[in-house]
Amino acid sequence: MADGDAGAGQMRARRPASDRAAPLATLALLLAGALALAGCTSDGSDEPDSPAGSASERQAVARDDAALDVAESSPVEDRVYPRVGDPGVDALHYDLDLTWQPRTRRLSGVETLVFRATGDAERFQLDLGAPLEVSAVRLDGQEVAYDHAGKDLVVRTPVTRDRRYTLDVEYAGTPKPVAAPTTRTDFSTLGWTITRDDETWTMQEPFGAYSWYAVNDQPSDKALYDFTITAPAPMLGVANGTLESRRTEDGTTVTKWHLDEPAASYLVTVAIGDFEETRERSQSGVPVTYWTPRDQPRFVRRLRVAADELDWIEERLGAYPFSSLGIVLVDSRSGMETQTMITLGAANYATSPGVIVHEMVHQWYGNQVTPVDWRDVWMNEGMAMYLQLAWQADHADAPLGDVLDRLAPAEPLLRLESGPPADYDPATFGEGNIYIIPALMWHELRERLGEREFWAGLRAWPGVHENGNASYDDITAWWSEHTGRDLSAFFDAWLLGEKSPPRD
Ligand SMILES: [Zn+2]
Repeated sequence: MADGDAGAGQMRARRPASDRAAPLATLALLLAGALALAGCTSDGSDEPDSPAGSASERQAVARDDAALDVAESSPVEDRVYPRVGDPGVDALHYDLDLTWQPRTRRLSGVETLVFRATGDAERFQLDLGAPLEVSAVRLDGQEVAYDHAGKDLVVRTPVTRDRRYTLDVEYAGTPKPVAAPTTRTDFSTLGWTITRDDETWTMQEPFGAYSWYAVNDQPSDKALYDFTITAPAPMLGVANGTLESRRTEDGTTVTKWHLDEPAASYLVTVAIGDFEETRERSQSGVPVTYWTPRDQPRFVRRLRVAADELDWIEERLGAYPFSSLGIVLVDSRSGMETQTMITLGAANYATSPGVIVHEMVHQWYGNQVTPVDWRDVWMNEGMAMYLQLAWQADHADAPLGDVLDRLAPAEPLLRLESGPPADYDPATFGEGNIYIIPALMWHELRERLGEREFWAGLRAWPGVHENGNASYDDITAWWSEHTGRDLSAFFDAWLLGEKSPPRD
């Protein structure tokens, strides 16, 4: 996710000072001063919008298909947000068939989930928003008893450890976004959001996917996805992965999307609106698509920096880890690194070149390797922030060290207000402490290790847990092993300490 404090800083002039607490206002101004945004450039004219080709209709996924093995996870109970997710379920593949009726604001879902039971149990549960009414639940084709109280969809039938099951859930209703555990100003709710024009979009970090489908909504459980989205033309649905087909018949558009590598639920995106598609390719050959509101063509020019920026990131982190990249522009004020299809708010800050770099870095740090639970979201945001600042310094011809020196004085305040990066206050998710402090930490580590060793580590780490998850102990022990130095005290001081560690 983009750093909302920086965003607030960019937009401060247009917003009343009463919108946020005084100490953060100070930080926002500091960030605005430290982040010298480079101007964005565009490489030329738009390509014509071309409908996607005629990909074959996908067969229903068989639960014993070995292709699902890549999505096997070791789900845990979240230490920060334990009410969301069920470690008894290991979701492997979600097939989501969604129909949006803007006139009535009604979403109808036919969901087929293939999952592995992680233990013997009398029941299991998924998260599904209370406003959605469930009409049928079947396990391996048989109707089963269930309760849907609050957001907990409890399926009352026994399951056996390590057996795979196919669960069908049919539901409908008007989804309602859920409250975000944050004091940020760029978002306050999470999940399925309906615009004034009855278009829809989703952003759902650290949870909130359950506002629109039945899901094990915790980051340790990654799964594969297929989407079929039906909406009245000219609206169409955009989602993660690649567009397999797009057809308009009798005034209705159906799009099918396929995500071929597993994603955590907070990295899933669906947006339904009147989008125009623009395609291009990075130097390295990654297909890049932009989905922008048809009535706002100026945004295409802003987004097209992404292909060049991807080249810059690949020079540092190695080859892009997925088969395609897209950006969908929605009516939000934030930005989110949703896997292979970044979701950006149609605002100047959210579409700035620095934020686009930030969300692309997350495809390595956060998406290819994902924290086991929310305690370690610093693993994502620290690196995305660090390389965002490095890109901005590069393009503003300013030494990165100077930019960081200007941010450093805020560090103790961030620690005090929201807690150390790896031990933060659950009510202040996504504050500056998980961005700025680990960004300073990575720079400090770079100075200690030297260029060669530092960049080799940065490049190597995401692949160590490709398509998987990692914990605090995993990443800190790996860096010690990788460098042959005991770095545990260094990481503990920066990430868990009450006091700011000294900088060189
Ligand atoms: Zn981020």
